Amino acid sequence: MRRLWRPVLDDLIPYDAGLAIEALARELGRSELVRLSANENPLGPSPLAVAAVEREAARIHLYPDGGSTALREALGRGLGVAPNQIVVGNGADELIALIATAAFEPGDEVIVPAPSFEPYEITARLAGATVVPSPLAGYDTDLDDVLRRVTDRTKAVMLCSPHNPATTIIPRRPLLAFLDALGPDSPLVVLDQAYIDFCDDPDHADGIRLLERYSRLVVLRTFSKIAGLAGLRVGYAVASAETIDRFNRVRAPYNVNRLGQVAALAALADHAHEEKTVRLVLEERAYLSAELTKRGYTFPPSHANFLLIAVPDAPGSWCVTAPAWASPASCAFPSACARRTRSYWPCSNLASRVSSHAPMARMCRSICASISVGTARFRARQ
Ligand code: PMP
Repeated sequence: MRRLWRPVLDDLIPYDAGLAIEALARELGRSELVRLSANENPLGPSPLAVAAVEREAARIHLYPDGGSTALREALGRGLGVAPNQIVVGNGADELIALIATAAFEPGDEVIVPAPSFEPYEITARLAGATVVPSPLAGYDTDLDDVLRRVTDRTKAVMLCSPHNPATTIIPRRPLLAFLDALGPDSPLVVLDQAYIDFCDDPDHADGIRLLERYSRLVVLRTFSKIAGLAGLRVGYAVASAETIDRFNRVRAPYNVNRLGQVAALAALADHAHEEKTVRLVLEERAYLSAELTKRGYTFPPSHANFLLIAVPDAPGSWCVTAPAWASPASCAFPSACARRTRSYWPCSNLASRVSSHAPMARMCRSICASISVGTARFRARQ
């Protein structure tokens, strides 16, 4: 018999993004739903991005600029790096896959904090590499443990700060000590900063500023969260020009579509939308944290736009996105993190919830209710 498929696919658990939100709303008979697990922007996209998409719509018969040149130049100016230190991807998701395609081979080891964002493990395994899990210490990335696991075969270390799903950061000083300890022949260190815009802790390191000193560092960012462009799929990696050159060799020629490129470019200039998003998330995160604390829930202080809530009688913890009124996530997070279940939040009028705290109390109650329902659902599946 001809063997068609790679054996690695047999025991790979695909990333479960859940039903499309529209399909789920239909199924539940709701007019509007907010996905509880995707940490999307509650304000919606930048209006400047929407206008740019409208302007560009008549040109979608033309292939996009395969090099996302204008976007890389604008990003480079803003970040203080050269455009050839940036590759734009079809979401940061694609960049995670590009790293694996460009660098990982059978026999390589890739150290992945456990739990963390699932695609790190999936892409490494797909590339034939061996995933070496490094358990979190409580809710924190344990850099001492990661360091102990580095061997000659380690090809990459995947770090996430703020961490998904733990919401914690790797403070600057231990991060620098870790990078120094890896030395000049370091593995690739991927620092995923998808949620950096929601971190107001002065102890948090801006990965971009470290690139000059650490040439094997790769920083990931995305337009999905802060700019509200999740549906267009635009993320970027910043690294040394040599590293970016390797990624460019393995990416598809037109990996980022026209609408994504113009929307991201416009969003970069929309400081008002960015500031409004950050302010909203920080305020509502604090509010939600306080309300949940009052109700007896515990969670690590969040540096992201979601919370990870310990559920006392559940076999693990749960993620709840803040601001909960608009983008609550509630995904089961069993300690082994082998599976996640997701639940959804019916929501009828997002706009009215933006301006007032009053609906928040109701929301908090509902979050607690949704956690209970989800816990029961999770148990039922055990
Ligand atoms: N990294 C982390 C930590 C994430 O949580 C996500 C999205 N949930 C991504 C990367 C992927 O972002 P994008 O939408 O740009 O593919």
